[in-house]
Amino acid sequence: MKIAIIGAGITGLTAGYRLTSQKHQVTIFEKNDFAGGLASGFKQKNWDWSLEFFYHHLFTTDQNAIKLINELGLGDQLKFSRPKTSIYYEDKISRFDSPASILFSPLLNYPQKIRTGLATIFLKVYPDWHSLEKITAVKFLPKLYGRKAYQILWKPLIKAKFGSFSDQISAAWFWARIKKRSFQLGYLDGGFQVLIDKLEEKIKENGGKIYLNQEIARINDLNHNNKYDQIVLTVPTSIFSPKTKLPPMLGALNMILVLKEKFLIDNTYWLNINDPGYPFVSVVEQTNFIDPKYYGGNHILYVGGYYPANHRFFKMTKEEIFKEFLPFLKKINPDYNFKLKIENFKLSSNKYAQPITPTNYSRIIPPHQTSIPNVYLANMQQIYPWDRGINYAVELGEKIAKFIE
Ligand SMILES: Cc1cc2nc3c(=O)[nH]c(=O)nc-3n(C[C@H](O)[C@H](O)[C@H](O)COP(=O)(O)OP(=O)(O)OC[C@H]3O[C@@H](n4cnc5c(N)ncnc54)[C@H](O)[C@@H]3O)c2cc1C
Repeated sequence: MKIAIIGAGITGLTAGYRLTSQKHQVTIFEKNDFAGGLASGFKQKNWDWSLEFFYHHLFTTDQNAIKLINELGLGDQLKFSRPKTSIYYEDKISRFDSPASILFSPLLNYPQKIRTGLATIFLKVYPDWHSLEKITAVKFLPKLYGRKAYQILWKPLIKAKFGSFSDQISAAWFWARIKKRSFQLGYLDGGFQVLIDKLEEKIKENGGKIYLNQEIARINDLNHNNKYDQIVLTVPTSIFSPKTKLPPMLGALNMILVLKEKFLIDNTYWLNINDPGYPFVSVVEQTNFIDPKYYGGNHILYVGGYYPANHRFFKMTKEEIFKEFLPFLKKINPDYNFKLKIENFKLSSNKYAQPITPTNYSRIIPPHQTSIPNVYLANMQQIYPWDRGINYAVELGEKIAKFIE
């Protein structure tokens, strides 16, 4: 069969790899001048490894991605370790990534700590997300964790991530986040770009074609004279179906600071910002997870958040946004002299980064088969209850390849 795939993110590339392995003639069209979508990376001249435009790691539960990485011969390059995750609350950083760190946390009293531990264990073992999708996270979590723990730990994160949509998010979304989280985090030697490069290489080896800088605006343009037997869209639903009933997707913005010295001096890799009023939700020091030697000795700091597509940040320059972020970064490490320590910085932004999943979302997920014959949809708005991730993009790419064969 002749198959066109729109979008060369992990979903499109995985589908392309599977379909070309089955001897189908596959052509992938990608609007950017690079493949890999949200998981792609870039390299500075003095770096040995690529760095993702947006912070990325895998969990040990990401079995579809791990299997594919092994199958592609990259298994030896996938390393798991246990970097530090902390919470920034009332102007202090507190470790919060293990039973022991919760036990010693100054944020909660003992009964609250015990309840937090039990609530988390409950979500880890509770099998039925369907019952949870009927209730919102903001109603369910105070009941499960208790008001105080909810207000310190989860309310600020849900608010910061989903903004005006936070009151609508289903408890199933939260369940999925806890269910799949592992203590150990994984990263590929060389960055996730290595996986993207390998998929591209295999697709081409199998006779597939990948056209970059090819934005497909309408399916009709692509399928003039019925050129393709099947078309797979791996792009956000609203791009091809502007009247979709799905909620809009949130955008993401990551400021990448290339620094001469460590910023999070307590070695935290992932810092959730739980204090209100910050213009970002996470500060992620890549080089507290991965050795700075792979980035020419530089220290890499991501400062990121999620914003609606019409947010003013998407119209601002990196300098303007940095100026807004700076006073807040200074609160986190008041001794850090950015003027002296910053080598350069970069802004990554994408307006289609995070699906919004209100209660009973499973009832409105669009099917893979669209209303147009032989045109299929496979995107991150369809992987619910799971949150978006490389693992689910791989699973979805494999599923859609089987579906259309
Ligand atoms: C801030 C952030 C942090 C993340 N952290 C993690 C993490 O730690 N671990 C993890 O596993 N996952 C993480 N993810 C999620 C992960 O990156 C995505 O789930 C995954 O890459 C999605 O792949 P995809 O192919 O489905 O979508 P995309 O990557 O969005 O790919 C879609 C592709 O389609 C192209 N396209 C769009 N419109 C058109 C058009 N009209 N014509 C042609 N091409 C088009 C786009 O350019 C893009 O390349 C993160 C995402 C973000 C935003």
